[in-house]
Amino acid sequence: MKDTDWKKKLTPQQYKVLREKGTEAPFSGDLLHVTDDGTYVCGACDTPIFSSSTKYESTEPGLVGWPSFSDVISKDVIQLVYDDRHGMNRTEVVCSNCGGHLGHVFEADDSPTGTHYCINSVSLAFKSQSKST
Ligand SMILES: [Zn+2]
Repeated sequence: MKDTDWKKKLTPQQYKVLREKGTEAPFSGDLLHVTDDGTYVCGACDTPIFSSSTKYESTEPGLVGWPSFSDVISKDVIQLVYDDRHGMNRTEVVCSNCGGHLGHVFEADDSPTGTHYCINSVSLAFKSQSKST
């Protein structure tokens, strides 16, 4: 899809994060404290990315304030991209299907798997399990 089409489909905040690789302000996201059972899908293309069973409250300094996940639904749904913007060596998490920027992944002791997916709320949409049944 072209940038002009994404601009029509997404909210300005979604566009800034998903297409321009922005980062939402910490503690600003709607999904930070969601604890319901369900699936987190890409906010741009609806591809299922994370299950609620892997969401956890992070205590890692610098990574608190965004939704945290310990694993993805399938390794195929994301691509990992080396990111040295802002003078930091980070690994970007990108939706395999649409190329949307989701967040970054870190090694972290507070994650059950040792892997911390630090994801922007606006890059995701939450599909509650109870609504689909
Ligand atoms: Zn996507």
